[in-house]
Amino acid sequence: MRKPFIAANWKMNKTVSETGEFLKEFIPVVKDVAAVEIVMAPPFTSLMTAAKSIKGTNIRLASQNVFYEEKGAFTGEISPAMLVDCGCTYVIVGHSERRQYFKETDEIINKKIRASKKNGLGVVFCVGESLEDRESGKTFDILNREIENGLKDTAADNIVVAYEPIWAIGTGRTAAPEQAQEAHAYIRDRISVLYGNKADEFRIIYGGSVTPENVDSLMACSDVDGALVGGASLKVESFTRIVKFKKG
Ligand code: PEP
Repeated sequence: MRKPFIAANWKMNKTVSETGEFLKEFIPVVKDVAAVEIVMAPPFTSLMTAAKSIKGTNIRLASQNVFYEEKGAFTGEISPAMLVDCGCTYVIVGHSERRQYFKETDEIINKKIRASKKNGLGVVFCVGESLEDRESGKTFDILNREIENGLKDTAADNIVVAYEPIWAIGTGRTAAPEQAQEAHAYIRDRISVLYGNKADEFRIIYGGSVTPENVDSLMACSDVDGALVGGASLKVESFTRIVKFKKG
């Protein structure tokens, strides 16, 4: 059985005090949710305060980024060990915004995944095609390339793959459940080539304009094991409804 995984990606939103206010309201309303792994990824500046607030709760902490070196002259970067020290359990790697705005390549992403796993961090590894790729029939080629290169020389444990079609991120245009299911089934098939029968245990989550209105139909798909949520995770009410999705 794959435990559903629902993660909030706050991106560059919320100050330390706003993080504290959100969690003060959110923690009690989800405290009885045992069947879902709930993960929050606030900005770096809020990690410490979030770690203190969620201690002893059913919520886990993730970082939105990491650098692959252990220490040294890398101004502005944060190492995997620093994130573990801050209380992080997971790190998001390969988000399309990092690939697009910060020019992260498959090779850099692979280094980040390996360094994170070496330090005991779980990885939420994002893959997904652009609209242009989809319209020219290249979706599966892109997914295959990102998976093969990103997961090169990594063991199967402690990885969650997030399928995030770029055209659906922050656009209000969600993938239809059939489109999500088709891509997730393809990803699981690729994972089985890399990791054999471990593919059945692999959690593959969907990201791209997930809302309280569409979460139930996405989670009804047999290969959709959770969600990575941007905009709708910024409000307690909408993120709580997503965490408490209804099974079909
Ligand atoms: C994301 O940032 O990973 C994301 C899916 O954003 P949104 O839910 O706003 O589309």
